[in-house]
Amino acid sequence: MERLMDAIVKPTAGPGLELRRVPVPVPGPGEVLIKIHKTAICGTDVHIYNWDPWARIHITHPPMTIGHEYVGEIAQLGEGVTGLTVGQRVSGEGHITCHRCRNCHTGNIQWCKNTTSVGVDRDGAFAEYLCIPQTNVIPIDESLDEDVVAFFDAFGNATHTALMWDLVGEDVLITGAGPIGIIAAGICKYDGARRVIITDLNDYRLGLARKMGVDAAVNTGREDLLQVMKEQGLKEGFDVGLEMSGNGAAFRQMCSVMRNGGRISLLGLGNKPIEVDMNDIICKGLCLQGIYGRKMDNWHKMSYMVQGGLDLTPVITHRFHYTEFEKGFAAMNSGESGKVVLDWTK
Ligand code: NAD
Ligand code: ZN
Repeated sequence: MERLMDAIVKPTAGPGLELRRVPVPVPGPGEVLIKIHKTAICGTDVHIYNWDPWARIHITHPPMTIGHEYVGEIAQLGEGVTGLTVGQRVSGEGHITCHRCRNCHTGNIQWCKNTTSVGVDRDGAFAEYLCIPQTNVIPIDESLDEDVVAFFDAFGNATHTALMWDLVGEDVLITGAGPIGIIAAGICKYDGARRVIITDLNDYRLGLARKMGVDAAVNTGREDLLQVMKEQGLKEGFDVGLEMSGNGAAFRQMCSVMRNGGRISLLGLGNKPIEVDMNDIICKGLCLQGIYGRKMDNWHKMSYMVQGGLDLTPVITHRFHYTEFEKGFAAMNSGESGKVVLDWTK
């Protein structure tokens, strides 16, 4: 008889989500079934909940289970799976890549041209069980706090963006104090940046960034960034910029306060094209790097940074049982939240 489980499902092409009974997936050859312990809500899940233009383009076949930030334990191994054991604690890389294209062959799976995404293109992790290929399973040390591991996927985006450049003794500007910007701030301080300054228009989120240990959290809606830079002892501008807002005004401001030869990594996805004066970039000799997803090696670095003392708990603002997922999405939509963690263990 088919086994059933609870899952948070996008039922039809429209706003909202539903808690439904759906079949427990059966792991095929090379696949692993994971029993979910904790999940975290990502901005992508909020797009899907709200059914905004991005979701309308990317969610092509409802009904489907959403979610891609999670931690759990292995419940069952498909045929031929080796090197993993039932009961082992794991998370998973959410991008399922082809292993055949030029980028996959050079270890750059984040640039795979045939990527499909867990919780977007195929059933996701907001369920009692998730099935993924063995190659995407990431073993997680038992010493790590599961509430933090729940959002390692987002931590991976922040890690990839921040560690693109040498940060030791550098002055860093982060535009956008969303959960990923705040996590990136923690990484930059941990990695030896001299000053980490973060901007946003949302005071609640700037408050969370302060708890993460930034040197200054600036509301650029009413505060003068140049004045703050002076107070913080910056003389020639920022060495490194991490764009994490997806907002054109924030990006233009970033370009204007970088030192000549500064380096910028761009994670924030805009909901419309961003206009920029190329002369600013060219004449300053700025180096820009687009960031998508995360490198596989980041998963190791993430565990080790936490074990080395990087405390990410300040970014967790809400914890709910999964049956209260509506409250979690309301918190995310209010703007007064960091990471929202859902518990599937009870
Ligand atoms: P988020 O939407 O929670 O945070 C963005 C923050 O930017 C918000 O707090 C918002 O108030 C702030 N902001 C808006 N206008 C601003 C301005 N002018 N100046 C400064 N801040 C401003 O997003 P998140 O979950 O933290 O993710 C960060 C960004 O990264 C998002 O754009 C997201 O879409 C993107 N993202 C990209 C990838 C990727 O692979 N490239 C992966 C995950 C997320
Ligand atoms: Zn590939």
